[in-house]
Amino acid sequence: MQKVKGTYDVLPQDSSQWLFLEHHIHNVMKKHHISYVRTPVFEYYDVFHRQTEASDMVTKETYDFEDRSGRKITLRPEGTAGVIRSIVENKLIAPNHVLKTYYLGANYRYERPQKGRYREFYQTGIEMIGDKDAILDAELIQIAYELISKLGIKQVVVKLNHLGDHESRLAYKEALKNYLEPFKDQLSEDSQNRLSSNPLRILDSKIPSDQALLKDAPRLDQFISDEDQKYFQDIIKILNTHNIPYEIDTKLVRGLDYYAHVVFEIQTLIEGFGSQNALGGGGRYDNLVSELGGPDVSGIGFALGLERLLLACELQGISFEDSNHIDVAVLHLDKHLKKEAYEIYKFLQKNNINVDFDFSNKTFKTQLKNAIQSNLNYVIILGEEEVANNTVQIKNLKAETQETVKKEDILNYLNKQLG
Ligand code: AMP
Repeated sequence: MQKVKGTYDVLPQDSSQWLFLEHHIHNVMKKHHISYVRTPVFEYYDVFHRQTEASDMVTKETYDFEDRSGRKITLRPEGTAGVIRSIVENKLIAPNHVLKTYYLGANYRYERPQKGRYREFYQTGIEMIGDKDAILDAELIQIAYELISKLGIKQVVVKLNHLGDHESRLAYKEALKNYLEPFKDQLSEDSQNRLSSNPLRILDSKIPSDQALLKDAPRLDQFISDEDQKYFQDIIKILNTHNIPYEIDTKLVRGLDYYAHVVFEIQTLIEGFGSQNALGGGGRYDNLVSELGGPDVSGIGFALGLERLLLACELQGISFEDSNHIDVAVLHLDKHLKKEAYEIYKFLQKNNINVDFDFSNKTFKTQLKNAIQSNLNYVIILGEEEVANNTVQIKNLKAETQETVKKEDILNYLNKQLG
């Protein structure tokens, strides 16, 4: 049996990095008073397949199936739509209130797997719903940046663009289409298909000949209203004040169609990342909440990819505190002492010591060898003599010292040593 293409296992030797990253995310969110939401991994098909959403992700990459009662179901390809569905269904949106929530979970997309791109992958993201204000946009971008930079990841830049409101985007789409139409035959096959369905996506084509054709094309920023221009400048002023490294990229459109106004992507310039260099991204959405049955309020959100954050840490040599770390193991000198050793293990565990126990019947020598290999600091050794005297031996593996300790003093002794 093999795992499904595009998936991966988190093995015991790598799992502490995942736990560390997840703790980090929860801590940063808590600091900003953002509340955690968890929604199902699958939703009704219509939550993601909305009429207005013509992105590749939704039209070509979703895992859709019928359940045993014939209901059309989709595995979530992204976090936002399900979270908004839940917020609307549970009537969490109140007037004059900005709801701040975050999620962390798996998403599913039928994409071509490559480095940093999987068919099951994890994202964390924030949605702030209820108001449209440049301060909120700037705050959200800063939190996304903080989540990355506080891990110690360097060489990160925020790419920013303004897509304008619905009307200016429509006008721009039309102008871009009219401009590219005469060159249609010279466009790549993908871009030709997008010309009628979603011309904005041609802007972020990676194909050089497409980019060459776009050189003299009308620019998005020429279509944006004065009000939106000012809004964008207000965001930039705040980012400047707080020293967030950003670049304006007028070709940045992002994959999803629900975005309007500001969009951003956080990219890393770390060597070895390859083409999948976006750690995350997001933007504002005006119509998504109402499309999913809620009131007419604006929201803003982003998502970061956890696999890519871990890859960035790995490439930059950032090591994590081992959150699975065990301080001490209880070993037994002979099989018939295992039960007594087990009781010491349970006692220490109940008293919050990070303790391990070897449940196999390995020889003492092997137990000790394993403990040394696991980089443990202490082992507690129990033999005949110790049982008879109500004592144990505590060996400091780093200092290579050993002491006899009374059974009732073990906890005190360890607490002092582990300080
Ligand atoms: P998106 O939801 O497409 O805006 O993606 C946001 C972030 O999620 C990206 O910048 C990546 O870090 C991550 N991501 C998206 N798709 C994948 C994937 N197939 N595999 C791994 N990470 C992904």
